[in-house]
Amino acid sequence: MKTLEVSVVTPDGPVFEGTANMVSAKAKSGELGVMPGHIPLVAPLTISAVRVHQDGRTQYVAVSGGFIEVRPEKVTVLAQSAELASEIEMERAQAAKERAERRLAATSQNDIDHQRAELALRRAVNRIDVASRR
Ligand code: ATP
Repeated sequence: MKTLEVSVVTPDGPVFEGTANMVSAKAKSGELGVMPGHIPLVAPLTISAVRVHQDGRTQYVAVSGGFIEVRPEKVTVLAQSAELASEIEMERAQAAKERAERRLAATSQNDIDHQRAELALRRAVNRIDVASRR
C-alpha cells in the first residue's frame, strides 16, 4: 500500500514525523481526508485533532489551528502549537479550560479578552478531547 510522509511542525520544532496511509484534518472549509496521490493544496485548519492513520492504529495530534500543506507524497502541518495525545498534560488543560470559562463569564462579547478566552477554551477542550484518546 502507498504511504504518505507526515510532518507536524511548530516554532519549537517538529512534533510528529512519520508515514501514514491517510491523514484526516479539520480545515476551516470542512473535513479533509488525504490519501497518497492527493492533489496539492494549502488550507487553514481549525483548533482540532489531526488524525494520522497508520497500519492498524490512529495517532491523534492536537493542533491550535495553523495550516496544512498537501502534496501527492507528503503532508505538512504548520501550527503555533501541537501536541501528541501522549504529551498532553490533562491537569494543565483542565486548568486552562476553567480559567477561560471564568474569563468568558467576566467579560462582554466584543471585548478582546472575551475573544482570547474563547480561543483558549477551544484549545483546552481540544487537548482534553485528544488526551482522552491515548
Ligand atoms: P496554557 O494556558 O496552559 O499555557 P495555552 O492554550 O495558552 O495553554 P499555548 O499558548 O497554545 O497554550 O501553548 C504554549 C506551549 O505549551 C506550547 O508548546 C504547547 O504545546 C504547550 N501546551 C499547552 N497546553 C498544554 C498541555 N495541556 N499539555 C502539554 N503541553 C501544553
